[in-house]
Formats: sequence, structure tokens, C-alpha cells
Amino acid sequence: MTATIFCRAPVALGVPATYLGFDDTDSPQGMCTTFLATLILDELRRFDLVGLPRLVRLNPNVPWKTRGNAAVCLPLGRGVGGGRICGAINGRPLKCYERGSSVDQEELLSVAAKVLERVAEFDCDKTNPGMVATNKKPSQRFYWRAVREVVPLSDVERELRAVGASWRRYKNGRGVIGAASAASWRPHDRTWEVISYRTPDRIGTKREVDRGSVIRMDHKTKSTFHNYDPGSGHVAITPASPCPVLFGIRGDSADELLRARKMIRGEPPLSWLLFLTNQGTDDHIVRCRIRDLEPGMSVRVQATVAASPRSIEGGHVIVRVSDGDEVDVAFYEPSGDLNRAARRLIPGDLVVVYGSVRDSPRSLNAEKLRVLHLAVARRKETNPLCVMCDKRMGSLGVGQGYRCKRCGARAPASAAGFAETSREIRTGWYEPPVASRRHLYRPIRRMSRDNNSNLL
Ligand SMILES: [Zn+2]
Repeated sequence: MTATIFCRAPVALGVPATYLGFDDTDSPQGMCTTFLATLILDELRRFDLVGLPRLVRLNPNVPWKTRGNAAVCLPLGRGVGGGRICGAINGRPLKCYERGSSVDQEELLSVAAKVLERVAEFDCDKTNPGMVATNKKPSQRFYWRAVREVVPLSDVERELRAVGASWRRYKNGRGVIGAASAASWRPHDRTWEVISYRTPDRIGTKREVDRGSVIRMDHKTKSTFHNYDPGSGHVAITPASPCPVLFGIRGDSADELLRARKMIRGEPPLSWLLFLTNQGTDDHIVRCRIRDLEPGMSVRVQATVAASPRSIEGGHVIVRVSDGDEVDVAFYEPSGDLNRAARRLIPGDLVVVYGSVRDSPRSLNAEKLRVLHLAVARRKETNPLCVMCDKRMGSLGVGQGYRCKRCGARAPASAAGFAETSREIRTGWYEPPVASRRHLYRPIRRMSRDNNSNLL
């Protein structure tokens, strides 16, 4: 069978299914929204997956996010055809179907909500779950707003009413925003992540994942990314939090991820599940002029370096850039290569900076840098010659020009003899180490694949 949901071909849209979205069920200490997906699928065996589960990352700059600001959407219904294995829950293989039909959304919601109510971390202040079931997708506008802005719950509920959705809100109900936004996502650029989950007795203990097997997997696969950091040796497929996730491998090919999962050695997982996701897509980035920067936005700004980089305490570097208006860009010390590249910029360099906007002081926290054009670096070699006396003039001080000691003739600073010096930086892309990238961060290896799609 042709498995379009597993490859980079356009995802078949409009496949009838009932979309079950949920969000904000986790806390910094425990639950994980993607793990809730496995619990729901385990309990809702009478429904089939019609398409892959979707893991949708939303605006990384919202102040109340729990961890990665992840929402999940499960397309459920009655599957038609053979189906393909896309996971295993407690040892039971799970299939997903390319075609199918929708089911009663109210019935689906009432069963799924019971699972959420049993396991969500209601005690955590920041945990405000929401769950949406709908046979008609909300407008994809809600996805784009939720990945880039802060969307009011009232706007989302108005849209949910308009499409005839059913939903449950808990506590302040903020999770409904992510749940509806995940349900409204129409994947254009997309990646996959295969996630393995730990057995309950191991959750909270140190994860046993063999480093060597992660590195081998990284070498043997072509399209996986963010596996480990060759610089520091940091393994990035295992999370740092005490959540049920054992590891997650990201990549551009679902088939390859299914193979990659089997290459990892370590503790036996309880379950695993393949997700279609917006991770690694830069969907959060908005192309922007400096005068239009607003706090909380993630932006792409093209500008010219306006002043020499300055180092501040902690090894961070600040570079002032201008596109007519000016802003300081901060390159933090842990950003490694990105920080080192920033130090080597000089006034006149043309750059594209990706980053998030900080309110006070108004600045950009750099996520990624592209150097488009390097200015010529010059060093003064000789003072100008007096045309009358044929003698070298004397300097009047930095930027003050020159004067002949004999006849008093003057010359501007630019009259000196200069020699071009070599630059210690090249044009191209610079990015931080794997450990300091966000979920939505589009790695450079994905940028070069399709350079224009990011020019939104
Ligand atoms: Zn002279």
C-alpha cells in the first residue's frame, strides 16, 4: 500500500476523522501530554487512528508554559484497509490507517476525558487542561496564531462553537487553546518523532540509554536530527525532566525513525508511539522589521551590524544591528559557535538574525545567525603624505584627521593608507549546540534542504 502519511509527500487532507486534541495536562515534575496520548489510545481501543498522532509545539515564549508547550491531536475514527504499525502500547501493536470515517465526537470526548481526569496533574498551578473533539477542523489560523502569539481563550471558543466542536475545560481552561490549535494544524512543513516511554517502576530514576548506541544510530541514519551534540557529547534524545519519556528521536523520515528506534540499547520501554510533528520547522518565526518587534515574538530580522560586538559578563556578546532602526542582539555564552561567530562580526556586515524578542531592555535573544555579506576589514598602515612637503603628516587623534607638522596642511582620517585584513568568519549559517535549541528550532541541515520556504 502507499503510505503517504509516512513520507514527505503531501499529507492527504480532508480524510474523514474525528480530531481529539488535548493540552496542558503535564507539570514540571510528572505527566507528559504525549504519554497521555498512549493512555488514551490504550483505553479507546474501539476507535482506530486515521492518520498519525500529532505532536504540535506552540509559542515557546508564552510565560505560563509547563515544559515544551506541546499539544497533541489524535485523528480517530473507523479505519479502512490494512493499516501500518505506528506504535505499541504495553506490548500491544498499534496501527494507523490512511483512510477511514469519523465517529460520534461526544462519545469520543466523554471516554477520553475520563482518562485525562484520572491522570492530569491538577495540583500544579500551571496545569490547566483542555480537551477538544471535533469532526470539523477549526480554521488553521488558530494554529498559526498559537505558534506565534498569545491567543485569548474566548477567540478559540468562538471558533469551536462555529465548527460545532465539543470540548471540556478544566480549572482556567487554558489548555483548550492548545487542544484546539493542535486540532487545527494542517501540516505543511513537518517532521516526525518516535517516542519511547518508561515502565512505571522506573519513572523518576536515572534513564538507562546506551550512549554508544545513540551515536551509532546518529551515524547510521540520514534524516534524524538533534540526537546528540558531537562537541560536548551530550545525548539529546533523552529528556532532563522526570517524565515518562525514555527517549524521542526526531527526523524527516518516519520509516527511518522506526528503524532508528530499534538501534537504541538500554532499559526496555513500556510503550512507543510515532508522531507527526511541527518540530524543527521554525513555524514560530515571523519575518519582521526592527521597528515592529514586540515582546514574546520569535522573529527573523535582516540587518546590518551597526557597531563592534561587545562582551558582557558571563561570556555573552551583544551586537547592535540596524535596518534603519536599531536593536541589540544578545548571543549567550552557551550558544557556542553562534556566540563565537557573533564576536567576529564587524560594522557593515549584513546578517539575518533569528531570535525571540525580550521586553526590557528591548533586545533580541539570538537563536540562529546567517551571515549574508562580510564588510571589508581594514587596518591603517600609513599616515597620509603632505602633497606640498612630501612628508608624512601627524595624527590629530582618533578620527580627527591629520596635519602636516611643517606647513600645517590638513587631511581627513580617510586619507590614510589602509591595508585589507582577513576576516575570521565566513558567510553562511551559524547555530547553537543541540542542547540549547528549542523544539521548533529548524536545524540548518533542514534549512539548506528548502531555503525559501522560511521566507514567510
Ligand atoms: Zn606640508
